[in-house]
Amino acid sequence: MPQQPRLPLPYRPEAAIVARHLQALAGALDWAAAAPLARPWVQAVRNNPPPFWAMESLLKEYPISSAEGLALMRLAEALLRVPDAETAIALTADQLGRADFDGASDAMMARLSASAIALSKKFLPEDGQSSIMSKLGARTVVAATLRAVQLLGRQFVLGQNIGEAMKEADGARKHTPGLRFSYDMLGEGARTDADALHYLASYTHAIESIAARADKTGACEQNDGISIKLSALHPRYEETQHARVLAELVPRVWGLCELAARANINLTIDAEEVDRLELSLDVFEALAALVAQQQPQWQGFGLALQAYQTRSLELISHVITLARRYRLRFMCRLVKGAYWDSEIKRAQELGLPHYPVFTHKHHTDVSYLACAQALLAAPDAIYPQFAGHNAGTIAAIIQMAARNADVRRAGPPQASTAPSGGSDVHEVTNVGAASTFELQRLHGMGEGIFREVLKNPQIACRVYAPVGAHRDLLAYLVRRLLENGANSSFVHQLADESVGMDQLLTSPLHMAPESSLPLPPLLYGPGRPNSEGLDLTVESMRAPLFAAFTTVQVPGVPEFDAKLAASAVQTGASSYQKWSKIDVAERAATLRRAADALQQQMPAFCALLVKEAFKTWGDAVSEVREAIDFLRYYANEAERIMAPIALPGPTGETNELRLTARGVWVCISPWNFPLAIFTGQVAAALATGNAVLAKPAEQTPGVAWEAVKLLHAAGVPEGALQLLHGPGETVGAALVAAPGIAGVVFTGSTQVAKIINRALAAKDGPIVPLIAETGGINAMLVDSSALPEQVVDAVVQSAFRSAGQRCSALRLLCLHEGIADKVVAMLRGAVQELAVGDPAELATDVGPVIDREAFDNIQRHLQRLGSTSKVLPALAGRAQNAPDSIANQVLPSAFEVSSLTEVKDEIFGPVLQIVRWGGEPQKVMAQINALGDGLTLGIQTRIDSRAQALAAAAHVGNIYINRNMIGAVVGVQPFGGEGLSGTGPKAGGPHYLYRFCAEQTVTVNTTAAGGNAALLSGT
Ligand SMILES: Cc1cc2nc3c(=O)[nH]c(=O)nc-3n(C[C@H](O)[C@H](O)[C@H](O)COP(=O)(O)OP(=O)(O)OC[C@H]3O[C@@H](n4cnc5c(N)ncnc54)[C@H](O)[C@@H]3O)c2cc1C
Repeated sequence: MPQQPRLPLPYRPEAAIVARHLQALAGALDWAAAAPLARPWVQAVRNNPPPFWAMESLLKEYPISSAEGLALMRLAEALLRVPDAETAIALTADQLGRADFDGASDAMMARLSASAIALSKKFLPEDGQSSIMSKLGARTVVAATLRAVQLLGRQFVLGQNIGEAMKEADGARKHTPGLRFSYDMLGEGARTDADALHYLASYTHAIESIAARADKTGACEQNDGISIKLSALHPRYEETQHARVLAELVPRVWGLCELAARANINLTIDAEEVDRLELSLDVFEALAALVAQQQPQWQGFGLALQAYQTRSLELISHVITLARRYRLRFMCRLVKGAYWDSEIKRAQELGLPHYPVFTHKHHTDVSYLACAQALLAAPDAIYPQFAGHNAGTIAAIIQMAARNADVRRAGPPQASTAPSGGSDVHEVTNVGAASTFELQRLHGMGEGIFREVLKNPQIACRVYAPVGAHRDLLAYLVRRLLENGANSSFVHQLADESVGMDQLLTSPLHMAPESSLPLPPLLYGPGRPNSEGLDLTVESMRAPLFAAFTTVQVPGVPEFDAKLAASAVQTGASSYQKWSKIDVAERAATLRRAADALQQQMPAFCALLVKEAFKTWGDAVSEVREAIDFLRYYANEAERIMAPIALPGPTGETNELRLTARGVWVCISPWNFPLAIFTGQVAAALATGNAVLAKPAEQTPGVAWEAVKLLHAAGVPEGALQLLHGPGETVGAALVAAPGIAGVVFTGSTQVAKIINRALAAKDGPIVPLIAETGGINAMLVDSSALPEQVVDAVVQSAFRSAGQRCSALRLLCLHEGIADKVVAMLRGAVQELAVGDPAELATDVGPVIDREAFDNIQRHLQRLGSTSKVLPALAGRAQNAPDSIANQVLPSAFEVSSLTEVKDEIFGPVLQIVRWGGEPQKVMAQINALGDGLTLGIQTRIDSRAQALAAAAHVGNIYINRNMIGAVVGVQPFGGEGLSGTGPKAGGPHYLYRFCAEQTVTVNTTAAGGNAALLSGT
């Protein structure tokens, strides 16, 4: 059984870590001596550039920041997979239409790809896809562009299959004897078990092919090897599925390890996202234990380690400890890391205290060197493999390797102590350590630099070589284009001759940090702290939640007697008199205190949400964060909009516009967001100076009770916020009907919103404003340029997360007929992997629905759909618990309907309807509009102009392009719909608070007493 890795928290302040890394390097690296080694390499590459197709040349011609570079990347990512001519034409026209390939120089890569693309472009009309683009011309354009994109892909794939790749490798060895290869079977992120088994078969076949040619008795590192991605081998390779992954993935990978061990070849586990690190280490350790038991002679087992992680040094000591514990030697590939932008985004989205990766490029470089030193200092445990294309880094490694070799020659290993003696270029070129490490590069990259480096025959090099169909290259290729398109990238700078040699080879050890990214808590600026989130994949961060779960009780909440509605209004009204007169800054401060308290009590509130509302842990954390964000956002907004505005006018008078509170508001909130929506409504009314009668959903009064307690403790007067729990039909209706209320804010069904609207209209007295946010049949429109994997991820999250009980949830998936079969098959496989069951279990993806009534209602719909539509067989998650042990559990399900007009009702549960479409996407959009709802819409397409045109045509409040369509963030995606989906204004948006206010213009005649002194005195 693996021992839990003891890595520190990934989210720690960066500066202190960098200081430690610099300390670790002191004496181990003399940059001033290493850099001169790299100068001639750089000069030689600049004098004699690599082949025109290499990444360096490609990026020089078309930087990613240019319209052409972007178009190239978009086309490379999408064009090869588009099945139908219409969409391929539209995509090509869209991308080529915004770029200027004709203006490119004739140099290098332009000779081939650009000429194909420029040729394509000549066929294009000025205005993209207009009618003058004849069918024949358009097809020719697409064919030429396809060819160009295929040629681009070919530069980064060694072969379409392992046999082809091995032949290419033999060819390369004729020019560079001794070159080693690590084959990478393209494909990552299996969504279904079928995909995972397919990748397993492909790895198995590749290892068998490599094995047939391997030297079984020599040094393992001399043989070609394989690199594998664990995310390709299991559809739920995630920390939350820890037990399952260990039980199912380890045996799969062990099968591959055994084959590799018998063949005496290197098998490396690639490094993926940070949130999978601990899991990958557990898998790695489980496998290491098996190696130690069954193949102890094997020296080829290894993993990739990312230096951009702030835990990199601790990670390396952990791996060294493992090697020593199991008496093995691992092959460790040190990389800087390929997912930098997505790691930054994830940390910002989750509101984590720090980033898990360095945020300055030179910090990553320093970390890489410190890690290299740690690896070189442990030759008993590690065979280091240094991957990268940065000449400065490579020179430093060679220098450090030579120094470590000197130290070893001089005496017993001194671990990481600094070697003595000076160093010069002569010394570092005498590596004398060919067998102690190797360098690695990616196929199609770094060819120029390596051409020079490998002139030193003592240096060993391995090429990481993707193998597979060009279609499968896309994710990999886009990662490379992005990585090397960055201004800070070495490859990018090498190609840019305006970057001088000194700048290119500046020591990372002495660079001053440039402007920093804001930390996630400061994402919205210093004036509004972002709510702090948790990373549930980190054991120590989730532990307080589980601890709270054992102690938190759902409080009993007394029912309010509907007959007392009038007196509640009276109490509210008298409290309103005082609360509305308090300075807005003081009210805002009260709400901010409540936000801080909620932040502190996050574990208890999460536990309560899981217990009372059956939220999964992930949903609970998001919900508490949303409530905190509402409190802070409305506090700021109230201060902003309630400041009086001086208006221009004639001399002799002043004019001022002010907002004032309206009075007593009735806030009626739903059970699906019992904390966030409840708090949002209440906070908006309170911030603007109103008093509140809050009626929570009958199913979830406990959460509301605790929220009200917290608001009172923060300083909201009891009379200004009264909690009135009870059924909607009695308590809700009585409050709405009570004379004297100033407004109603309601979130719930369209049907109840209409009842409230009628009740308000029937009342005498002033016309009372109603803010209603209701649900609707939310659609996602997917064309055939969309990436099926991305579509499936978005659909699973949008339709089934929170058991489909969000008003924003996806109900109707409109799939282009060209990709419908593929997407449906992948969706089915992905849904089968969902864990359905007890929400208190971390592994659970889909918990039960809220109550028996909801369950019965969904069952009725399921029966109706079962008899009228095509049920997609076996589209159901896996129940984790014994059937019926959890009440009101509905398995995710989907139905295919023949036409959009058949879709009538919003089914508030994990039930999806799918319809296929062909022809014009705008016609489908018109049909979606005709449904009359307008809350959320998903659009999945790679045709940017199409996405924009569809969004413009949609009568929908929240539109999400190429992502899921749930989880609107306060102040970022103001939320609320139109049509049957609500009245607006949008919650969490800059217009919301106005509806809670009355407007007042105050005009003062400043000449009333006497004349106009100001005018007369000329001021
Ligand atoms: C053989 C081989 C195998 C590989 N396997 C893996 C793998 O398993 N997993 C994986 O993740 N990657 C892998 N990579 C990709 C690798 O991470 C990148 O190619 C590498 O980071 C590029 O580094 P460089 O030294 O060539 O270029 P450089 O230009 O010196 O460094 C670029 C890198 O710096 C980092 N960086 C960029 N901007 C910033 C910033 N603002 N703050 C902090 N850091 C920044 C990023 O890691 C970026 O990739 C592999 C690469 C090779 C060559």
